[in-house]
Amino acid sequence: MEKNYPLKIGLEIHGYLNTKEKLFCRCETDFLKKTPNIFICPICTGQPGSKPMLPNEEAIKKIIQISLILNCRINYEGEMKWQRKHYDWPDLPKGYQDTISGAHSTPCAENGVFDGIRIRECHLEEDPAQWNPENGEINYNRSGIPLIEIVTEPDFKSVEQTLSWLSNLINTLSYIKVIRKNAGIKVDVNVSTYGERIEIKNINSLEKIKKALEYEIKRQIEEYENGREIKKETLTYDDIKGKTIKMREKEGQTDYRFIPDPDLPSLDISKEDIEKIKKSLPELPSEKLKKLIDKFSLRKEDAEILVKNLALVEFAEEIAKKINLPKYISWITIELLRILNYNKKTLDDEDVEIKPEHLVELLELVDKGELTVLNAKQIMNNFVPKSFSVKENMKIQLGKLSEEETKKLVEKVIKENKKVFVEFKEGKKESLNFLIGQVMNLSGRRADFKKVREIFEKNR
Ligand code: ADP
Ligand code: MG
Ligand code: ZN
Repeated sequence: MEKNYPLKIGLEIHGYLNTKEKLFCRCETDFLKKTPNIFICPICTGQPGSKPMLPNEEAIKKIIQISLILNCRINYEGEMKWQRKHYDWPDLPKGYQDTISGAHSTPCAENGVFDGIRIRECHLEEDPAQWNPENGEINYNRSGIPLIEIVTEPDFKSVEQTLSWLSNLINTLSYIKVIRKNAGIKVDVNVSTYGERIEIKNINSLEKIKKALEYEIKRQIEEYENGREIKKETLTYDDIKGKTIKMREKEGQTDYRFIPDPDLPSLDISKEDIEKIKKSLPELPSEKLKKLIDKFSLRKEDAEILVKNLALVEFAEEIAKKINLPKYISWITIELLRILNYNKKTLDDEDVEIKPEHLVELLELVDKGELTVLNAKQIMNNFVPKSFSVKENMKIQLGKLSEEETKKLVEKVIKENKKVFVEFKEGKKESLNFLIGQVMNLSGRRADFKKVREIFEKNR
């Protein structure tokens, strides 16, 4: 492959807004739940004669927040009009998708710039349902969920730049808590080298974007070197085969027949609304970074690690209220992250509950010489998924609990959880797990799991 070749990359990024309700009806939005077709109504299943409700205000607020962060010009006062984007596909029973883009509309926001890359536009649309072509089943839980699309100019000059920009964008959006966690983002990646632009549709992870881009750039250069012309095309990336492949012709060149939607008024947003939203924006990664360095005297390298995750920065900020953050920073940037990684968790996972005051307490004991660094690290290993007060646990000797001590804890837990204990006696398995968990927590994970179970079984 040549060292120097022209390269332009542009992205169309789709993300799910994490609103409580769908865009045009009041159905719930937790579409990752396994059971299909539980969050549905005549509107989001496109029943004949059904009419959309006024668009969800939470979704509008969130798209404006995002547009502000991308430094876009927001089109307000009636300029944002809903368009019907028509296509016939089993996932779209009403025959069109409502979107604020297309031939006769102004997007929600335009002409922005984020982290050195120009943003062409930013708009809101509804997601269609989920269709499984293998068995024909359709799941409408997803139908009508608000989606945001961010379109960049083709300003990226390398694959690395594209990836680091995207992860910065995703992290920044996580600070304002607008995108549905775990649902991921989907990106259409456009790339040109020696010819026209190729679009690779619908890639859902940074890793796949990297592989798809590397493959596609190499392919285009080979085509060029073999004297073949590169024409505008729409491809998909097949992760198993590790290559980009042509999509069905139809999808690349659909005529969407955009028309304004007569059932929906244009969005009425005032300058004051926008100002209000602007004022309510939280601190962003760049601002947090500055604060960590200037106010808390952290080294840039450490601050950069922290700002990659909002929960982690907030954790560090709490710690800083009590103890000297720079002195103990490695307990967060190295130890805590090591333990989380080892357990394949992040601080903001729902089942993770690590309290800053518990770490502070631990570090104070180290400071006073009551715990060795090694002991403290061993204790910290048990802070995931749930931290605990070390002092309380210090009352019990370090090391495994004796049978006597374990029995005492079991009795305590039974006393404090009478109802659960009765359920356990009646044969409910979850109750036993809960009770065992309580004992394990109380013991700072130093009780023997099997022994605890045994004692409970005996008490049955
Ligand atoms: P369309 O309307 O056909 O989707 P657009 O011109 O709106 O095409 O561009 C869509 C995406 O393609 C944008 O993200 C843009 O940055 C990107 N793009 C446009 N021209 C190029 C190019 N020459 N090379 C790479 N990407 C490009
Ligand atoms: Mg496109
Ligand atoms: Zn609905």
